[in-house]
Amino acid sequence: MASADNDIQCIKDVGPQRAKLFRRLGVHTIRDLLYYLPFRYEDRRAVRTIADILPGEHATVRGSVLSADVVTLRKRRFKIFIIVITDETGVLRAKWFNQPFIRNTVKVGQDVVLSGAVSRDVSEKGIPEMENPEFEIVTADDTPYIHTGRIVPIYRLTEGISQKQFRKIMFWVVQHKTKQLLDHIPPSIIERHNFPSLHTSVRQVHFPDNDTDIDSLNSSSSSCHKRLSFDELFLFELGIAFMKRRARKKKGIAFRNPGELQKSLLNVLPFTLTKAQERVTKEILTDMKSEHPMYRLIQGDVGCGKTIVSLLAMLYAVESGYQAALMAPTEVLAEQHYLNIVSLIEQIGLPCALVTGGDMKGPVAGVASGEIPVVVGTHALIEERMIFKRLGIAVIDEQHKFGVMQRARLGKKGINPDVLVMTATPIPRSLSLTLYGDLDSSVIDELPPNRTSVVTEVFDENTKADIYTLLRKEIKKGRQAYIVYPAIDDSEKMNLKSAIQGKIAFERIYSEYTVGLLHGRMNTAERESIMAAFKRGEIHILVCTTVIEVGVDIPNATIMLIIHAERFGLAQLHQLRGRVGRGTDRSYCLLVTYGTITEEAMRRLDIMVASNDGNRIAEEDLNIRGPGDFLGVMQSGIADFKIAHIVRDVKLLDSAKKNAFDLVEGDPEIKGYPVLREELEVYCRKRDNFYRMG
Ligand code: ADP
Ligand code: MG
Repeated sequence: MASADNDIQCIKDVGPQRAKLFRRLGVHTIRDLLYYLPFRYEDRRAVRTIADILPGEHATVRGSVLSADVVTLRKRRFKIFIIVITDETGVLRAKWFNQPFIRNTVKVGQDVVLSGAVSRDVSEKGIPEMENPEFEIVTADDTPYIHTGRIVPIYRLTEGISQKQFRKIMFWVVQHKTKQLLDHIPPSIIERHNFPSLHTSVRQVHFPDNDTDIDSLNSSSSSCHKRLSFDELFLFELGIAFMKRRARKKKGIAFRNPGELQKSLLNVLPFTLTKAQERVTKEILTDMKSEHPMYRLIQGDVGCGKTIVSLLAMLYAVESGYQAALMAPTEVLAEQHYLNIVSLIEQIGLPCALVTGGDMKGPVAGVASGEIPVVVGTHALIEERMIFKRLGIAVIDEQHKFGVMQRARLGKKGINPDVLVMTATPIPRSLSLTLYGDLDSSVIDELPPNRTSVVTEVFDENTKADIYTLLRKEIKKGRQAYIVYPAIDDSEKMNLKSAIQGKIAFERIYSEYTVGLLHGRMNTAERESIMAAFKRGEIHILVCTTVIEVGVDIPNATIMLIIHAERFGLAQLHQLRGRVGRGTDRSYCLLVTYGTITEEAMRRLDIMVASNDGNRIAEEDLNIRGPGDFLGVMQSGIADFKIAHIVRDVKLLDSAKKNAFDLVEGDPEIKGYPVLREELEVYCRKRDNFYRMG
């Protein structure tokens, strides 16, 4: 174990009490502490003259202490420590409230540097003041300033330790312990990127030289920040590279059969495959026939027809006597996949089971015995009780809602089964690189023919009547409608229209039609029967919540109202809109807003009106929201970056990936770099060996 992995208690000034505080920050070892970076920097470089500073400013001054007194305010049981300093140009008073111990440090005659907000004493005209400034004693020897007179790091802290205490400890550790960190990146890579050394980088990100560009520090884009981000991304990508290599080396199932089931399915389909679907189906078949397991991602915008492609793959496995599982992120989606798949494969004589929550004894037994070849379900599929007789292929729909771990877990239900991941939500490239870095990818870049783009319009309360007319016209033609609400009932969110109330209102307006209700608080059986009735056309208007957001596919539904459209995110609006425009008839998405809406919401709605293109919308979404929200999806995953930021550092991620994959390609055991190898082992161990080498 490297000495950087020693417990923080071996640090000067850190005892058991402090160590506890540090642990609360996730800091256990010296290494953790060195990589605990400031979240911002304050510019306290310029030491100003007292004559020069103005009230309202934040300034740093230096002077010698003329007087130092503790004043007690009896009434308020308050102790104030007051000093007056001078620097030739003027005098300044500094006060600290309830910190009388400062008296023991700051003495008359000493030189001090003070940093803080300047105010002016009202009782004694002319004397500038600072309340609770940061201070530092200037000593004769050349001790560098830590808290003042420099670019000062500010850390995220926890109660019980002050910035100043923390900074002081950090300064000592950076001075004395940085050398314990070993640089694990191959020198050729460092050179290629022109990175500063590891030790320089660590010192500089904590206590930057005064000539550093402070903006680059505050945006974490200084060369030293980049170097440290790269280190982290490089290790991560090495892990991925090994995972991919290991997976590809495994012996999988080499499916070989005449493809009769596929042919039968194509025969019962009411359409022919698009060119893109055919191409991707072929790519999948090539993988399935190979001796190594398939790990493939199918990407394609909503409605491009991924389901049928995955079903073809599933049937290919079934024909060889294996089972096929399809996992979806929500019950509604699982149910609807199930209904779809059943309606198709029933015709060719294959049974199919649905596994969601609740009592699943029947399907569970059928899957265990192997009687049921095709299983559709939610994450209930990866529960312990689910045992497959012979799982041959695992398909995961809308995968980013699952963690990377869950994907792996479904795969473990068989012996190296083929794995197919489908994603519709357009995600920024950086994210897909990270989340799917170990997968091969296929893109369905073509929509089925005769799709008309969905007409999208924005309405507000005052123009609602127009909507009712349009809705009635569509329903009269035999079409169906979705009306999407942001809340289930009124109690849920204040001031929001809700689905339950909405259903009552719409029943009144459209008394001649059947209005159904669908939301997440209903049980599976209820929802299943509602969806089935909607599918059969027995329900004309389906009032619902965002439970229908992903995947639901009913081509006869041609009109969607989104109530409180201003409350929805762009990606979500796009997903919702994807539920209409699935047939050949003109479809409508009507965005209804309430109250005054923010400029940002207006931008979202404008983009929705202007574009039907998922990729364009994803990029705009990233522009508007910033990366924060996208990063939410990472939390369940394995990419727990401390320094790097996958959106901000997408270029670094790219090159880290390339460098890592090249390295593993050329030196699969990393024999040439023992330090790197060791570092990687620690990295993998910390992540439950999710990544393993070799
Ligand atoms: P997604 O890619 O969003 O999951 P689906 O697989 O749900 O899309 O397919 C959307 C709709 O398009 C479904 O109704 C499906 O039956 C239909 N579809 C799929 N492929 C074709 C095709 N080649 N021609 C016509 N319709 C198709
Ligand atoms: Mg789908």
